[in-house]
Amino acid sequence: MRRRFAGALVMRFVALLLAFFAMSVSNQRAQAQAIVVDPGHGGEDPGGSGNGMDEKDIVLDTSLRFFELLRESGAQGGRNWTAEITRDTDVFIPLANRASYANSLGADRFLSIHANAFADPQANGTETFSAGEPTTSSEMRDLVQEEMIAEWGLTDRGGKTANFTVLTATSMPASLSELGFVTNPGDAALLASDNARQRAAQAHLRALERHFEGVPEPEPQVGAILVQVSLNTEPLQGIQIHLDDTDVGLTDENGSLLLEDVAPGTYVVRATLAGNNPFELSTTVREGETARATFELEQEPEPTDAAGCGCSSQGGKPMQSLVLLLGALLLVLRRKAKLARTQPF
Ligand SMILES: [Zn+2]
Repeated sequence: MRRRFAGALVMRFVALLLAFFAMSVSNQRAQAQAIVVDPGHGGEDPGGSGNGMDEKDIVLDTSLRFFELLRESGAQGGRNWTAEITRDTDVFIPLANRASYANSLGADRFLSIHANAFADPQANGTETFSAGEPTTSSEMRDLVQEEMIAEWGLTDRGGKTANFTVLTATSMPASLSELGFVTNPGDAALLASDNARQRAAQAHLRALERHFEGVPEPEPQVGAILVQVSLNTEPLQGIQIHLDDTDVGLTDENGSLLLEDVAPGTYVVRATLAGNNPFELSTTVREGETARATFELEQEPEPTDAAGCGCSSQGGKPMQSLVLLLGALLLVLRRKAKLARTQPF
């Protein structure tokens, strides 16, 4: 198939819009994280009790604050969270149901919030659990523990492992926080404080933010572009190729240049032959596919006389172009040795 190449400003504008739209959509998809917050106990199950408090009330209030922070931080243009909570009232939910709820949502992380209790009121401090280690769960657990210690300054009982149902039955990385001991007067003062609960919620949010900073975003799926340039079906070597406005290299002896790891989107591919305006076309890259950008250029045939001489006066202009083109090719070929192929992505 022969093609003619003309500047297509409108198409280029549409192509850029499409590329921008595709990038925006894929960024949102890559960053959204579904977080399930799980306030422990509830209803007929008060959890631990001490210093006039039930664990179920402390952890519900703290979890609701954390839940709200997650929703707000997404809305304020921070990381794009979607947050859910296993209970937002004083209701009993079996442990297995909490895990299956998170599993059914396809959640990315699960954070259960508890407070400790012990017969000896001297027992105190903060500890955070995961089911195993080292795992993504234990990485998140250690950050939660670190942020809670930094925020509340209670005794650091460390990150630990335990086979709690909400940690083992959840199919996503999960942690369980024991904020402090309701049975210890010092810890209880913080557990009872609205301000301290808010700071505990903020500590959990910071831990999650740090956790996801350390976890690479999912690799964006990429495609490729195979550029081919020919003149009267002969491959042209050493032709400068631009992708949008970036110089991406020269065609090889087959007139080809393969651009790998190109993000999906629509691009303007330009082939620059010295002495001519760049030829350009638009191509759309899809995930896992190789798009083609084929420049099939034509030189008008030389008018020939009866003796077969291609040098009549009428052939002056095409001959001139051809000489220019060959000269440019020689220049380009000499430059090629010096230029390393660049990858823009
Ligand atoms: Zn508990």
